[in-house]
Amino acid sequence: MAPIRLLTARLRSVALFLLAAISIEAFTVAGGATARPPNLLFIFADDLTCQALSTYGESRHLLETPNIDRLAREGMRFDRCLVTNSICGPSRATILTGKYSHKNGFYNNANCRFDAAQPTFPKMLQEAGWQTAVIGKWHLGSAPTGFDHWQILPGQGIYYNPPMITAAGKQVERGYVTDVITDRSIEWLRQRDHHRPFLLMTQHKAPHREWSPAIRHLGWDGDRSHPEPPTLLDDFAGRSRAVRDHDMGLDRSFTALDAKFELPPGIDGDDLVAWNAYYEPRNDAFRAADPAGRDLVRWRYQRYLHDYLACVKAIDESVGRLLDELDREGIADETVVVLSSDQGFFLGEHGWFDKRWIFEESVRTPLIVRSPGLTRPGSHCDRIVSLIDFAPTFLALAGLPVPPDMQGRPLQPLLAERANADWRKSLYYHYYEFPEPHHVRPHRGVITERHKLVHYEGDLDEWELLDRAVDPTETRSFHADPAYADTLRELRAELDRLRHEVDDLGPVPSEAYGTAPLPEPPSAADRGDGAGQGT
Ligand code: CA
Repeated sequence: MAPIRLLTARLRSVALFLLAAISIEAFTVAGGATARPPNLLFIFADDLTCQALSTYGESRHLLETPNIDRLAREGMRFDRCLVTNSICGPSRATILTGKYSHKNGFYNNANCRFDAAQPTFPKMLQEAGWQTAVIGKWHLGSAPTGFDHWQILPGQGIYYNPPMITAAGKQVERGYVTDVITDRSIEWLRQRDHHRPFLLMTQHKAPHREWSPAIRHLGWDGDRSHPEPPTLLDDFAGRSRAVRDHDMGLDRSFTALDAKFELPPGIDGDDLVAWNAYYEPRNDAFRAADPAGRDLVRWRYQRYLHDYLACVKAIDESVGRLLDELDREGIADETVVVLSSDQGFFLGEHGWFDKRWIFEESVRTPLIVRSPGLTRPGSHCDRIVSLIDFAPTFLALAGLPVPPDMQGRPLQPLLAERANADWRKSLYYHYYEFPEPHHVRPHRGVITERHKLVHYEGDLDEWELLDRAVDPTETRSFHADPAYADTLRELRAELDRLRHEVDDLGPVPSEAYGTAPLPEPPSAADRGDGAGQGT
């Protein structure tokens, strides 16, 4: 049997070489000269939001992220990369497939499992001769496909001494999760076949809840008081019931684990001693002061910001180490680096943590692309781009065709700052998971450069119209304002057009919401006012 196995392996290797040669042959740069096909390094974080990155220049100036700043200085920063369903698993499925949740079948984190048989961009790159690897958080229920090498966290993973899974089984990796994922990524880079291009997806767990920092970053802020957002104590006056009816506020669903009154899983030894030395005196002071009401929200906000931003510091260091590794090997000029996250996150805006909503902090995610020879250093782009564009962009970068059923578009015209690039002016959004966790109503809507029109599905059947030019913090709905009648009509027509374009016209399957059916909308007779009719 051994010779047959050897022969099979040899044939596969020859086939891969030929495919790679064909791809290399097909790869040309704009001027027509043949270039080496690029390596693709995708650095991906979980719940990393623009407000935490100094390159995005948020008014609170919460954190310096010098390595991510460096990447932006050397490439292009996208200022309005928007997600299509602001939650972890669905965003990952959308990135892999270039499709909305209703097309790739992954609607929510509660009961969905990624159909690993469907086409993905890593599979297409692998078939074309790229070496492919994913290291870190996967969170799609099924084992990765389309990767020569994978090493993933089970489920959400843990911060300290995380177990990781490979095709060979599970084993505990000693260390802090962000460092472990970076170490394994660099090791894979060093041992890869240096004669073929690669796709490496380095996918961090951080800064996902419960926001546990690396021990070296405890107390990084010197107990500074982080500036509060203007909406920290939002009372939601002038907003829909759907928004008021949430369960994701610092005032209500912040757990003992979130607050670090409970030990995070996996921590031990010297790390545990240092962890206690940092948190316990501060927890004692909290117990002595026993804050309540607004004071409690403010205390939690400060604890949350210390921990979340500390996690981002480790992500920033990881970006620096990976960029340095490309430099060390001398392949920075033939490697496209893409930094992004599966969605944004609320850092106290509206009194919230978490994501899910169509509102700006959660729907907007960081995106920085350094593509040597294509992106102008220090450039930025304010057009509406989205996670559906990632797979088409990677394929186009590799010189491969983009399948027509992918719903996004290659970003190349924007990356090249092509004047008058024909580009979308609006994006369709659809969120499903309800009621657990966080009790955020399923909603769909249209996002334009200035406005959002949102429909909350189910029993409330409410609409909101947001105007970022007038109300950048999104604290008012103009849906019932007669001055917005024309805008409302246009947005309804645009939402209708987009629903047709993305083919999201049919009824939502009941399992899309998660583990419980969505409450029925009231009948027109019960409501008696005709509101909620329309698109
Ligand atoms: Ca996430």
